[in-house]
Amino acid sequence: MSIKEQKALYVHIPFCKKKCDYCDFPSYSGKEGLMLEYTKALCNELKKYKDFVFKTIFIGGGTPTYLSYECILLLKEAFKELKIAENAEFTVEGNPGTFTIEKLKEFKNMGVNRISIGLQAFQNELLKDIGRIHSEEEFLESFKMAKEVGLNNINVDLMFGLPGQSMDQWKESLEKAVELGVTHISCYSLIVEEGTPFHRRAQKGLLDTPSEEIEREMYEYTKKFLEKVGYNQYEISNFAKEGMECRHNLVYWNLEDYIGCGSGAHSFIDGERIENTSNPEEYIELVKINGTGKVDSFENSEEDTIEEFMFMGLRKVEGINKVNFENRFKKDIYSIYGDVIKKHLKNKLIEDDGENIKLTPQGIQLSNMVMSDFMLEKA
Ligand code: SF4
Repeated sequence: MSIKEQKALYVHIPFCKKKCDYCDFPSYSGKEGLMLEYTKALCNELKKYKDFVFKTIFIGGGTPTYLSYECILLLKEAFKELKIAENAEFTVEGNPGTFTIEKLKEFKNMGVNRISIGLQAFQNELLKDIGRIHSEEEFLESFKMAKEVGLNNINVDLMFGLPGQSMDQWKESLEKAVELGVTHISCYSLIVEEGTPFHRRAQKGLLDTPSEEIEREMYEYTKKFLEKVGYNQYEISNFAKEGMECRHNLVYWNLEDYIGCGSGAHSFIDGERIENTSNPEEYIELVKINGTGKVDSFENSEEDTIEEFMFMGLRKVEGINKVNFENRFKKDIYSIYGDVIKKHLKNKLIEDDGENIKLTPQGIQLSNMVMSDFMLEKA
């Protein structure tokens, strides 16, 4: 089986010890009573995919490291039934304050070879204010545990644009992450999502986030600093040491096929989008009846796929390869997007280097606006 035919697998664990104040992901606190039944359902859904070969696996959430030891053992048994490519990238996400050596060892025995740790900031006052359950010290302990069990391919997630966060604090967070020698750093700017405690705070005028200008400076500093100390930016928010880019996320950005299992998970297979229920209780019931948590699906039209290919591809710093576009859609990219590309070439938001079409640094700052121009008119 060629690498192209191998798939990516996303597995969702919807449990968190406590909901962070900015989070609108399909994750829940206070539903620990469902954990065992949920994991059993998840293991059943995974069985459906035992004929595929997986080149990347990502157990995300939620907080996968919050699963009980017993649940991790069940998951380990389920993975034994799946075909995992020899050199597969297998990531688990975790949050400090939920790690134990025993749990990490079992993830490792499952095949996990990469860990992504949600840190967000190194300053305890910021961590407390955004509703994280952990301190810097607990993060360092978790980091040590990961190393101790031999999980050396480590990503940390950091956030900028947090309320009360100064430029110096942001610089300190980046420096400390680099000092630890992590292989990958994801830097996300805070987005205040509706329905979150942060949104309510913002509406009352009590969310003291840095100005847009400071946020832009933070982002520009991030790119320069991380580049200087050996982390290549390969996507709008992601930086990696040479060869350590996250292969699973590249599947999304290259709009390749992926399978999602668990509540809130999505799949994209042969042009079909499949959505699982985001409700864990409903998920358990649906898997009992149908063997899957699917609640909706639709066939992408060619226009849908072209648009998604552009939206996802432009997130990559290398942009979209024109030959890849032509091979996939049997059309020249300029025959579809000639006007839009020329418009943004002229205002220097897009660059065509002969092989690839990509956003310029200014284009990245205005990426939402530029990308919205790539929407196609549909019949
Ligand atoms: S730990 Fe992650 S998934 Fe859970 S509430 Fe916080 S941000 Fe959301």
